[in-house]
Amino acid sequence: MTRPAPAGPPALRRHNSGLVLSALRESEGASRAELAARTGLTRATVATLLDPLLAAGVLAEEIAPPRGVGRPSRPVRFHPDGPVALGIALDVDSLAVCATDLTGHVCALRKIGRDNRGRSADALCSAAADLAVDLRDQLGRRVLGAALAVPALLGDGGPDAREILRAPNLPRLTGARPGLALARSLGVPVIVENEATLGALAHLGVAPDFVVISAEIGVGGGIVLGGRVFRGVHGLAGELGHVVVDRDGPECGCGGRGCVEQYAGKSALLVDAGVPDVAALQEALSGGNGRAIAAVGRAGTALGVALASVLNVLDVPVVVLGGVYAELAEAIRPALEAELRARSLQPSPPTVLASSLGEDAAVRGAADAVLDEVRRHPDQLVGTG
Ligand SMILES: [Zn+2]
Repeated sequence: MTRPAPAGPPALRRHNSGLVLSALRESEGASRAELAARTGLTRATVATLLDPLLAAGVLAEEIAPPRGVGRPSRPVRFHPDGPVALGIALDVDSLAVCATDLTGHVCALRKIGRDNRGRSADALCSAAADLAVDLRDQLGRRVLGAALAVPALLGDGGPDAREILRAPNLPRLTGARPGLALARSLGVPVIVENEATLGALAHLGVAPDFVVISAEIGVGGGIVLGGRVFRGVHGLAGELGHVVVDRDGPECGCGGRGCVEQYAGKSALLVDAGVPDVAALQEALSGGNGRAIAAVGRAGTALGVALASVLNVLDVPVVVLGGVYAELAEAIRPALEAELRARSLQPSPPTVLASSLGEDAAVRGAADAVLDEVRRHPDQLVGTG
C-alpha cells in the first residue's frame, strides 16, 4: 500500500502561498494581520510568503496615511500591472484573444472576424500568435501562460502537446500540435483544450453541477460536476450536438442520423427560419414573423428532448444556454422548458439560465484554465516553479 508523501517544505510553502493568494482574491486588499487571521498562518509566515510576491511585482503594498492612534495599516493587493493569463480562441469564423489578471478580471479582449476554414495549421497558428503577441505588447504585462480553445477532438499527451485528431470545421488543423507552435512564439507554456470544455470552465460558479449548451456553427456543450469540468478521456464529454432526437432523422456530419445539431444548430435554425444570420432572426422574432417563431420553437423542442435525456443520465438540475442560444433565450425557452418538464425524472423541473458571456465564453475559459494551473502551482508566480 502506498501512502501520500508527507508535505515537505516546498509543498507546504506552495500550499500556504495558495491560501494567502486565495484570501487576497476574496478581498479588495488585506493587511498582513488580516491575512494571518484569514489563513490561520502566523504573521511571520505570511510575511515570508508575501516578500517574493511583492518583489516579483505580483502584489503591491500601499502605505496608508496614519489614522488616529496605532501603526498605519499597509494593505496588500494584487499589483494593478501584475502578470496576466492569455486566452486564445480559434474558431471557424473568428480569432479571439483575452488577458485576465490574477483576480479573474478580464483586462483586454480582442476579436477579429475571419473565415478560418481553408487556412493551413501553420497560418492559423501564426495568426493566433500575432494577435496574442500584439495584445501582450500593448498591455506590457508579464504573461504567465496561455491556453488555446479549438473546436476539435484532441489526442492524449500533455496539455501543451496535444494533437488535433479531428476538427470537422477546421479540417486543415488535423494532425497539428498547435500548443508547441504557439509556445515557441509566445515563450510560455500553452495548454490546448476543446472550446466547449473551456466554455464550461468560464461558467464555473453559476452552480456546482450544470450542463452548458451552445450553438455556434454546430451545437457544443460542456458538463460541470462538483464544481469541476468533466472533460472525458478525449475532451469530448458534453458533445451534446450529436445526441440523437430522431433515429430516422436527417443525416449528420458525424455519420449518424437525427442528431440535435440537425434541428437546433445555428445553420439548421437559420435555414428553417428563412433568414441569413442571427441578427435577421432576432429582427424577425421581434417583428412577430410566424416562420421564425415556429423555427425557434422547433429548435427549442429538439433541444429539450436531447437535454432531458442528458440531465436524467447525469442527475444534474441546471442548464446554461450559451452562444447564440443565450441571445435567443427568451424565444427558445418556452418549448425547451415544456420538454424538460414533461421528460425530467428529477423532483422539480430543471432550471434554465442564459449565459452572460455570449460568444466570449471559450476565450475567457481559456484564460481561466491558465489561472487554474497557476493556482495549483503558485511557485511560477515568482519564477521558481
Ligand atoms: Zn451528429
